[in-house]
Amino acid sequence: MTIFSPRSLTEALQVLNEHPAARLLAGGTDTMVEINFRHFEPSDIISLRHVQELQVFETLSTGYRLGAAIPYKQFENGSFSHVSGALSEASRTVGSPQIRATGTIGGNLGTCSPAGDTLPVLSALDAQIELSSINGIRMLSIHDFMLGVKRNARVSNEIITAIHIPKINGFQGYAKVGVRNAMVISIASACLIHNMDKSHIALALGAVGPTIIRCRTAEKWLTQNADLSTSTALTTEVIEEFGRLAASEALPITDHRSTAEYRKHAVGVLAQRLLKRAMK
Ligand SMILES: Cc1cc2nc3c(=O)[nH]c(=O)nc-3n(C[C@H](O)[C@H](O)[C@H](O)COP(=O)(O)OP(=O)(O)OC[C@H]3O[C@@H](n4cnc5c(N)ncnc54)[C@H](O)[C@@H]3O)c2cc1C
Repeated sequence: MTIFSPRSLTEALQVLNEHPAARLLAGGTDTMVEINFRHFEPSDIISLRHVQELQVFETLSTGYRLGAAIPYKQFENGSFSHVSGALSEASRTVGSPQIRATGTIGGNLGTCSPAGDTLPVLSALDAQIELSSINGIRMLSIHDFMLGVKRNARVSNEIITAIHIPKINGFQGYAKVGVRNAMVISIASACLIHNMDKSHIALALGAVGPTIIRCRTAEKWLTQNADLSTSTALTTEVIEEFGRLAASEALPITDHRSTAEYRKHAVGVLAQRLLKRAMK
């Protein structure tokens, strides 16, 4: 096994192109667990730690470009915590301070677990994923990037270089249920974004399907049945129906973490709570 440690994006892309079976290593918080448990034996490793281009943050006219290897701690309460309230909330729930100091959003996307905490946020924000190879850059909607349980649309010679998210005028919230309050993988999670400029609510669910689920039916129903442009309080009936529709869109399974029934119930409750917070 060879461990490569490129010093630039160009070098990293060249090495990856020559070794397409190599495993990219960012924070290593997923990969090292896989190696330690012998679930995976890499042929070669390409460390992204010294690729400065992956750490770059940019403010654009319409939003932000987040370097894929910026660690969670910068979004939690560090330099970039202002870019998205929901991303900050999701980052705060990931693992422990040690995990957040090294783990990255690029790694969360690379693993593409349905329980990945940043993924419902990126889905609700309609994020664009920037993928680079020696042939150039392609942009992919998050909805096309996530294919299924731990499956994504990255091809073997590509590196996720950045995540593009819009600036949102309005509420953003993330909530998750686990067996305890910290150091826990989600049993169910939800992100709600209220885009006041478009009078639209986006809701995405995590850990209740093979990949992140956008609740298009609940979103459409709410837009048709509530005036989201005013601060008029929503009725209890509207909030409950929104939660019920969200739960009906979940496709949970029963596994070692929880039952399908509990997961469905939990996402309905999370959707209602987030909607109440949004309308306050
Ligand atoms: C104790 C513990 C607690 C955890 N708790 C949580 C939690 O609460 N919530 C949660 O969501 N996750 C949790 N995780 C999982 C993990 O921390 C996250 O998924 C994290 O985002 C992975 O990022 P990383 O940079 O460490 O990825 P790595 O382990 O370096 O890589 C993960 C995968 O992504 C690929 N990859 C990484 N960067 C890129 C890139 N730029 N381009 C293309 N592919 C790339 C790698 O090749 C690999 O396949 C936990 C892990 C541990 C060990």
